[in-house]
Amino acid sequence: MAILTDTKITDSEWEVMRVVWANQEVTSKEIIEVLEQKKDWKPATTKTFIGRLVKKAMLNTKKAGNKYLYSTDVSETDFVKSMLNELFDNICDRQKGEMIAYLLSQITLSFADLEKIESILNKKRKQAVHLVPCNCIPGQCHCKIIE
Ligand SMILES: [Zn+2]
Repeated sequence: MAILTDTKITDSEWEVMRVVWANQEVTSKEIIEVLEQKKDWKPATTKTFIGRLVKKAMLNTKKAGNKYLYSTDVSETDFVKSMLNELFDNICDRQKGEMIAYLLSQITLSFADLEKIESILNKKRKQAVHLVPCNCIPGQCHCKIIE
């Protein structure tokens, strides 16, 4: 399976990908129907985004009779993880814990989620440090001004 998680997509293209991820194999008509409901997009608009995703190799096309079926080799989980890593690469290591705490405080969690997080926290507690080292270059972070 090709991992194309480095590919950049726009928010609109992401809307199309979600339909494909949820249904595995879809026609443009099915994608159009979902996004007409959610975003009020005209068929031509959705088709443009589908075309861009095919160009970016995020979507595969297969001819089935007189229509095309769209699918993807990129897993949604891998893609989202790669986006999260990319986002976290842009912030100081020292701020990451606070950002995770913020995210945790914002979302609803299942008991299973909590168990998973607790088990990670127990491991992390053994490796914890008093002050996370700053990984930034001078001029891109508040830490360096203070130090
Ligand atoms: Zn820093």
